[in-house]
Amino acid sequence: MPTIFARIIRREIPAHIVYEDDLVIAFLDISQATKGHTLVVSKVEYQNIFEVPEKTASHLFGVATRLAKAIQKAFGASALNILSNNGELAGQTVFHFHLHLIPRYERQDDNLFKLKNNQGNLTSDEYKERARLIKEALS
Ligand code: 5GP
Repeated sequence: MPTIFARIIRREIPAHIVYEDDLVIAFLDISQATKGHTLVVSKVEYQNIFEVPEKTASHLFGVATRLAKAIQKAFGASALNILSNNGELAGQTVFHFHLHLIPRYERQDDNLFKLKNNQGNLTSDEYKERARLIKEALS
């Protein structure tokens, strides 16, 4: 079963496409969380970041950078969030890798993304151990 984004890529369902090349497509998110909210989507149907080759991800991020500047210019956005939900627990609802570009205009949008701060609950050894585990997994 193709994802909704795969169907947009194949022009089976309509979308407001703003950019396309061999690897990537970008179109307006139907929800328009803020004015100009845009999705940058890999053409290959990778489920999430855990499947995406680095080369595709870096191209996708390059396109996102270009689009962020275009969105800023088009709407005069003073700020912009880049968001990617990967996996159901992270809030992903369409299982086809994508970045959200969410331009920001007003303070009242502040509560769109509030991260919990656990700094006070962690010892220096716990930070060290977390960093060590990531570095070990990289090698
Ligand atoms: P996720 O929740 O996976 O991070 O993001 C999926 C996004 O896809 C949501 O923000 C949702 O509004 C958007 N979306 C879902 N269906 C459609 C559609 O048919 N067309 C467009 N343009 N966006 C969609």
